[in-house]
Amino acid sequence: MPSLTRKSPLKCSFCGKTEKEVARLIAGPAVYICDACIGICNKVLEATPQPASVDWDKLTDEQLLSGLKNAEATVEATRAVLQSMVEVLRHRSTSWEAIGKALGISRQAAWERFS
Ligand SMILES: [Zn+2]
Repeated sequence: MPSLTRKSPLKCSFCGKTEKEVARLIAGPAVYICDACIGICNKVLEATPQPASVDWDKLTDEQLLSGLKNAEATVEATRAVLQSMVEVLRHRSTSWEAIGKALGISRQAAWERFS
C-alpha cells in the first residue's frame, strides 16, 4: 500500500471491511475491492452464461433451460452477499428503518425480506 496520510483506513467498497481485515485490497478510481469480494465476483462471472445484451428470444429451449441453473446460482450468490451485509448491520443494532431507507424500501419490507 502507498504510504499516504489518511484520516480513515481504506475499506472495500463492496463489503466494507478495512484493509487490515482482508488479505488484499485492490484500488480502482475512488473504489476498493477486497480479495473475498473478488472471489464472489468471479463466481458470479463464471455462473453468468451469456452477456447481458443477449437476445433471449433467439435462443433455443435447450439453451435457455441449460442456462437456468447458472442464472439462479448468480442470483443466489448476490442474494447471499446482500443478506450477509444486512446481518452485519443488524448485529451492529442498525435499525430496519435505516436498512430499508438504504434500499429504497419500507422498514416493514426490509424486515420481511431479511429477518
Ligand atoms: Zn470486500
